[in-house]
Amino acid sequence: MSRLLLCGFEPFGHDSVNPALKIIEQLEGQTLALPNGSSDSVEIRTCRVPVTRYAAIESVVEAIERHAPDTVIMLGQASGRSAITPERVAINLDDYRIKDNGGHQPVDEPIEVAGPDACFTTLPIKAMVNDLQAAGLPASVSYTAGTFVCNHLFYGVQRHLADSPIRSGFVHIPALPEQSLDGRLPTMSLESLLEGVRVLCISAMTHQQDVRIGGGNISYVSPASRHALQCRLSHFWQVDTMTPETHILVLYTGGTLGMVESEQGLVPAGDFDARLRAALEDLPPSRRGRLPAFTLREFPQLIDSSSATPADWQQIAGEIADAYDSFDGFVVLQGTDTLAWTASSLAFQLKGTARPVIVSGAQLPLEADGSDALANVELALTAAAQPTLNEVVVAFGGQLLRGVCTRKWYTQDHRGFTTPNAPLLGEWVDDRVVVYPGRLMDDQGPAFELPDYACLGQDAVIRLPLYPGISAESVRVQLLRSEVKGAVLELWGSGNLPADAELLGVLADARGEGKLLAGISQCPHGPVSIGHYAAGAGLATIGVLSGDDMTLEAAFTKLLHLVALNQDEDWQRERFLMPWVGERASGLL
Ligand code: ASP
Repeated sequence: MSRLLLCGFEPFGHDSVNPALKIIEQLEGQTLALPNGSSDSVEIRTCRVPVTRYAAIESVVEAIERHAPDTVIMLGQASGRSAITPERVAINLDDYRIKDNGGHQPVDEPIEVAGPDACFTTLPIKAMVNDLQAAGLPASVSYTAGTFVCNHLFYGVQRHLADSPIRSGFVHIPALPEQSLDGRLPTMSLESLLEGVRVLCISAMTHQQDVRIGGGNISYVSPASRHALQCRLSHFWQVDTMTPETHILVLYTGGTLGMVESEQGLVPAGDFDARLRAALEDLPPSRRGRLPAFTLREFPQLIDSSSATPADWQQIAGEIADAYDSFDGFVVLQGTDTLAWTASSLAFQLKGTARPVIVSGAQLPLEADGSDALANVELALTAAAQPTLNEVVVAFGGQLLRGVCTRKWYTQDHRGFTTPNAPLLGEWVDDRVVVYPGRLMDDQGPAFELPDYACLGQDAVIRLPLYPGISAESVRVQLLRSEVKGAVLELWGSGNLPADAELLGVLADARGEGKLLAGISQCPHGPVSIGHYAAGAGLATIGVLSGDDMTLEAAFTKLLHLVALNQDEDWQRERFLMPWVGERASGLL
C-alpha cells in the first residue's frame, strides 16, 4: 500500500473555518482503492498546518519525516475561486496582504535567500484536472499560488523535497457555503470538495507521468475564462440553460419558510405570493432578472410538515400532474421536517417527469433575520427552469440533490439536507445554478402513477427499527395487524438481526400473510447485503427484500406506493427490487 500525506491549513483572516482543515479531518486514516484493476490502495495521513510563516513549512517537513509518504498534497483555501485549482508554480516571494496567524506581514521578502526564483509542482496536475472534470467537478490548472502563506509553504516543501523521489504540490480549493454570508463569494459544498480531494489523491497516485494537454491562462480563472471553460466543458457541468419564456408553478404548502410568530410559537401563515414577491425585490437586479416567471398557488390548509401524511403527497403530485402541460417546471415549498419524504414520494408518483420538480423549504422564516428562505427559493426557481433536470430534486442550502436519495441531516444548519449515497446533481456557484449533466436521470418520458394513498388508511406501511434488546412480542404487536401491508426493517450494519428465533418467526408469519418486508441499514452510508452474515441469513430465507442503499424515506414511500397500486405480490416484489427513479444509488459515487 502506498501512502499520501494530505496537509490542510488552519483558518485565517476573518474566517473561523478553513475547508482544507475540514477535509483533512474527514479523510485522516482513510484508505482509497486505486482504479484499473490495480490491487494497490493508498492510505491517507494528514497534517494540520498553522497559517504562520516558517512554522507552516516546519510542520509539513516534520509530518513527512513521521509518515514517510510517497506523495504530498497540500491544500489551501482560495477565497474568490470557484474551481479546484492545482498549482503549477511557487515563487520565492513573501508579500502578505494581511498578517498571518503569527502576526507576520513580510513585504517583498524572499522565502529563501538566494533560493531559485520559482519551483514547479511535481504532481501530474493536468491529469488531476482532467480526472476532476471527468468526475463532474469544476477544476483548472492555476499559475499563481499567490504570495501569502500558501505560496510560502508550497515553495518551502518543493525546496525540501527537491532531490527526493517524493512527489508534492499544492492545490487551492474554493470557500465553503457557510463562509459566504452575503452569498457573494463563489463556494463549493464540503461534499463536492471531499469528492474532489478523493479524486485528486487517486489521480496523483495513478498517473506516474502528467498528460500533455495545451493549457495556460492569463489570470487564474477570470470570469470570462471561467465562462469559456464552462462552455468547453458543458459535458461536465452546465450553467443556467433557462429560456426567456419559462414559466414555473410554485405550490406553497406551509412550513417554516412562510411561518410567522404567534403566542404558541411559529405557525403557518398565508399571503405568501405577495410576501415572496416583495422579498424577491431585495435581490440585486441582475439576479432578479435571471429568475423565471412564476405563478404561486397556496394550499387551502397550510401545514407544519410534521403533520403531513401520504394524502398530502398524493395531493401535491395530483396538482403537478394536472398542471403538467401548462408549466415548464414546478416548485413545491414545504416544511423541512418531512420534506425528504415528500420528495421521495413525488419521485415515485411522477416517475419519468420530463419537467423539473423542485422541492424546497427553509430553516428560518422568510422575514426572519439571517433567513435562508429567499436564497432557497431563488435556487429552487432557477433549478425549476433548467430543462435538463428530468426528475424530482431537493434544492436547499446551495445544493441540488436527487429527491429520492435525500435525508434531512441538520436541525438548524442552512445546508439542511444531504444524499448520503448519491453525489450532488448541481450547486449554486457564482450566483448561478450549475448542474452536472452526467449525474442526471435521462429523459424517459412521463409514466406517472397516481394511486389513491388516502384509501389505504393509517399504518399501511410501518417502520421497524431494531434496537438492542428488542422483543419478538413488540414486533408482533406492530406488524401482525391487518391494516399493516408492509414494513421497512431498519437492520444493523450490512443487514443483520439479533439471533432470536422467535423474532424471525414473527417476520416469517408476516411474510406468510403476504406483507411486503424490506430491509435497509441503520448506517447512513452504504448498502445492505442481506445474508452476508449468518446473523442476517434468516431474512433472506423468509423473503425480506433488500433495500440496498435506499434511504428510509425512499424504501418507505416505495413500499407504500406499491401497496397502493394493489397488484399481486410477485409483481410488487419484483417492482420493489427494480431501480425506478435513481432510488438505488449504488455505483453513483
Ligand atoms: N416544523 C417545520 C415544518 O416541517 C420545520 C420546517 O419547516 O423547517 O413545517
